[in-house]
Amino acid sequence: MQTKNGLRIGYHMSVAGSMDLAFDRGEELGCNTMQIFLTNPRTWLARKLTAEEADAFLERRKSSAIDPVIAHMPYLPNLSSSEKEIRSKSITSLNVNIALAEQLGIDYLVLHLGSHMGHGIDKGRENLSNAVSDAIDLTKNCTMLLENSAGQKNSIGSKMGELTAIYESIGSKRVGFCLDTCHVYAAGYDITKESVLKEMDGEFDLNLVKAIHLNDAKHELGSGLDRHENIGFGHINKGFKTFLSHDKIRNKPLILETPYNPKLKPGEEIEIVKKMLG
Ligand SMILES: [Zn+2]
Ligand SMILES: [Zn+2]
Repeated sequence: MQTKNGLRIGYHMSVAGSMDLAFDRGEELGCNTMQIFLTNPRTWLARKLTAEEADAFLERRKSSAIDPVIAHMPYLPNLSSSEKEIRSKSITSLNVNIALAEQLGIDYLVLHLGSHMGHGIDKGRENLSNAVSDAIDLTKNCTMLLENSAGQKNSIGSKMGELTAIYESIGSKRVGFCLDTCHVYAAGYDITKESVLKEMDGEFDLNLVKAIHLNDAKHELGSGLDRHENIGFGHINKGFKTFLSHDKIRNKPLILETPYNPKLKPGEEIEIVKKMLG
């Protein structure tokens, strides 16, 4: 179900208890799209999904207006690493997540680009591209979305030109990008300015962006720090309007990954965004 202005927006939702409960929680907040974790985000543990739980999820999905459903990889994997053990665990985790995503009919699986850990950006990019290319062969319906980073030390993929290079070295059309607004701002792109969006689109085709992580930035432009802030409480603030009105960004699914804030009612940021867009 498309809203009048085509806006698709939702939060990252908890799957605690049973995966299908994410739909109830999302609907209660007013989401018409959402993001979930398929495995525990802070451990390497795989997750066994029972047939009942998968069926309940698929059933609930049919009756829900929440669409698309996006999954996010856990935080520990680092697909850019050259270190054997981390690499092997990371690839296993990716494969487990892809299998779950396919089983649950997930539209997009978001993965972080990781860190080269001192082995240099070229080596990191090569490791990442190989891992993603292999993983694409395991997917049938789910598209993998690579998420831009904030520019922390040794990180891969904070600059637009780098994202283009990664896309080209993977060489598959079945991969897209998830643009995190906090990360891109921290990496030095002032997305509140049309001229900057134009420059970005020159270095990287913004049509490759399939989903947005809509987070305000706690720190100033170019800080390199990955610290999310609530919409309208950070440095991007009302400037979101310029970004969200861009031709190639408009109508992309927006996922809020903002911190808990006692000053905001549950789901209030959805209303804040709607108001901003008039
Ligand atoms: Zn992420
Ligand atoms: Zn972040």
